Amino acid sequence: MLSPDKLKKAFETVEEENWMLRAFLKGQEPEEVDQIVNSMHKELFDGFDCIACSNCCKALVPIIEENEMNAISSKLGLPCEDFKKKYLVKAREGFMINKKPCPFLTETGCSIYEHRPKYCREYPYTDKEEIWTRLINLVENCPVCPVVFEIFERLKKHFRDEFESYKVEYEEIWGNQDEYEEEYDDMEEWETDADFFAQKDWAGLVEYRRQKAKRYPDDPYYQWSIGEAYVLNKEYEKAISFLNDLHKKYPDDLDIQYSLLDALFAIRKDETAINWIIKPEILRLDKDTLDYCNNFLRTKRKPRTVHELHTELYCEGYPVFDEHQLMDFLLLSLPDLI
Ligand code: SF4
Ligand code: SF4
Repeated sequence: MLSPDKLKKAFETVEEENWMLRAFLKGQEPEEVDQIVNSMHKELFDGFDCIACSNCCKALVPIIEENEMNAISSKLGLPCEDFKKKYLVKAREGFMINKKPCPFLTETGCSIYEHRPKYCREYPYTDKEEIWTRLINLVENCPVCPVVFEIFERLKKHFRDEFESYKVEYEEIWGNQDEYEEEYDDMEEWETDADFFAQKDWAGLVEYRRQKAKRYPDDPYYQWSIGEAYVLNKEYEKAISFLNDLHKKYPDDLDIQYSLLDALFAIRKDETAINWIIKPEILRLDKDTLDYCNNFLRTKRKPRTVHELHTELYCEGYPVFDEHQLMDFLLLSLPDLI
């Protein structure tokens, strides 16, 4: 394995190839990739001296979860509040260590080792399943962790022939690396999100989106997506507090406004519970909505469905009713048209 201080330089020479490998691995059987990477992890970490490396403690900023603070502050002999003030900084989600390298790193390794956060204990995640959902992070960790770097080199050898022909195709099809990465990022996110939805694994979706959003802290879409996941996971109070902060930052963002309303209505509150900077348009089953529906449905072209109408209403505002309620309302109000 390469020595930790040589990684950065070495990564420069293989970075592009590693991104290609990532794309190649996305096309392989996920279980096979897990099995190969997990077994390389075991073999490479067996007997490896992490203390002599400590690259991750120098390069990364660990996240500390609320339930980890007491143990660490007691170990340091500090009241929890003093520990927070001295060593942590508020992140959008939870807290992070406020310095790099980590202040708990000493010549002999981690001074809070038995109480080190989950983030550190699990790094670099190569012994976990579903490696294909973390391939971007793994490529990004190649210049940090010698084990991850080595795993990538061994994977290239393991899939040598197939990977060599893939590289030729990759160059022919994409040529432009940036364009390719963007395409694949979108696809990977979409697939992973769809899996969580299919399994109704809302807690998993929250965690996945939180991790994802860390890469795009200034992108309202990624930030909103965490709030939406809280709502799906029925963490309504958390969603309201999180989305309300986001609304202050992006007051005209409709996704944020609507998810905030979803959370409020789920706990039987209404829009008056929020001091809106820009107030969302809220549609109720009243005369204005009826006029809108009337105009939308009175068309000489192909008949429109209530589903299309409901979707269209979403562009006008946040409907406080579902399709069935809308249908009942229309049957009563516009019987000749329906
Ligand atoms: S808490 Fe310990 S293991 Fe985690 S980054 Fe700091 S020194 Fe390293
Ligand atoms: S996990 Fe990787 S980067 Fe961290 S100390 Fe061990 S080998 Fe080094």
